[in-house]
Amino acid sequence: MLYAILFAVLSFVVFSVVYITLASDLRLRMDVSLTDEIKEFEALYKTKGVAGLKDEFRREAKSQGVNRVFFRLLSPRLGVIASSDTRSWGKTGLRQSILGSLKDNNELFMTIPHENHHYKVRIVCKRTHDNNILQIGHTLRDNVEIMESYREIFGTAMLTTLIFSILIGWFVARHGMKGVERVRETALRIGRGNLDYRVPLGGEGTEINNLASAFNNMLERIQTLIKEMREVTDNIAHDLRSPVTRIRGMAETTLLASQDINEFREMASIVVEESDRLVSMINTILEISKANSGLNDSPKERADIKKVVEDAYELFLALAEDKGIGIKLQLPEDSLYVLCNVSDIQRVVANLMDNAIKFTPEGGQVSISVGTDSDNAVIRITDSGIGIPKEDLPHIFERFYRGEKSRTTPGTGLGLSLAKAIINAYKGEITVESTPGKGSTFTVLIPI
Ligand code: ADP
Repeated sequence: MLYAILFAVLSFVVFSVVYITLASDLRLRMDVSLTDEIKEFEALYKTKGVAGLKDEFRREAKSQGVNRVFFRLLSPRLGVIASSDTRSWGKTGLRQSILGSLKDNNELFMTIPHENHHYKVRIVCKRTHDNNILQIGHTLRDNVEIMESYREIFGTAMLTTLIFSILIGWFVARHGMKGVERVRETALRIGRGNLDYRVPLGGEGTEINNLASAFNNMLERIQTLIKEMREVTDNIAHDLRSPVTRIRGMAETTLLASQDINEFREMASIVVEESDRLVSMINTILEISKANSGLNDSPKERADIKKVVEDAYELFLALAEDKGIGIKLQLPEDSLYVLCNVSDIQRVVANLMDNAIKFTPEGGQVSISVGTDSDNAVIRITDSGIGIPKEDLPHIFERFYRGEKSRTTPGTGLGLSLAKAIINAYKGEITVESTPGKGSTFTVLIPI
């Protein structure tokens, strides 16, 4: 509608400009031809006198139409000396007011109403050499008719175009809106709880299709996120329930069967231990979520990776020796700085070392090295342990995932997913290569 109104207003402006120009152009043409004509009569009057003029008046009026033109030769007081057939014109053009304006030798133009007709008349008067007055009157009927038919043609054309443009505009808008309507319907359905709906991609033009496919992509992402969230909550519920059930069972048994204070003491210490495990698990889950959502905005510092790894090595040395595992350290000569939160990197390294020692049997070997490639600090932890089966490899970085063979070893299945979440937050990379029965190598890249 807005475009139709704009179109109508603009068309009206164009119409008016053309109308005014056309009207003044027609008048100008008429005045030019009247001037030419009156000059011819003047010359004729000079050479052939009243008689010659009279003949010419008659002939000319006949050829142009006595109802369209009249010619007069008037005395200075407006008495008619000679004229064409002026029966249909009456006294049109014979008013005294003409004399007042007709002072010099120039043509005097005026437009006056016709006495008997509906159309106005354009009149030109001019003094002759002997002080008489030559007068020509021409009806404006032709001009008015041209303007009328112009108005008619333009009006019809504009009305038709306006109707068509409204119809076409309505059609195009409806067609375009259909796509938006589809997106809206899908959004409404999803709002009612079913995330499986997608906007069907139609043929309404690329913009709507782009919108629809962006909308679908967003839905896909939301659905994946919700699915992951459900899995995580399921896992959490499951993994937290077991220790709580264990604690409860133990307390119950002790309560029912035991009289001995020492057994209560033992029960209490197990409860403390299990509760600590629970709390640490919950903390790890929180940390993973925090690292994943990128909200880990604790201040970063210039940390020496070489030092972090060296410290971890010293920390795990005793544990490895206890288990009869050889541990080898390979460090660069110079310090290697990256911008990070030291405790984050410490956790990653500690988790990987812990796993390496945990999954390596007695007499095995663990080695840890620090190096660089073009953009990253590279930490590599290799063990000669049990290795990871091919089918487990894609899952070990998932929350709560524990390999089939490692169920007997203590653990939560959260260590690697925390490590990955942290390294991802630093825009780094963590990868694994492993041969079952021979050992595994975890490689961590952190941008320098
Ligand atoms: P957790 O060690 O508590 O089980 P992680 O997330 O640290 O949990 O590791 C997930 C799983 O990946 C482990 O249960 C184990 O199956 C496998 N895994 C991790 N590190 C090693 C390793 N060095 N050697 C063999 N298997 C490993």
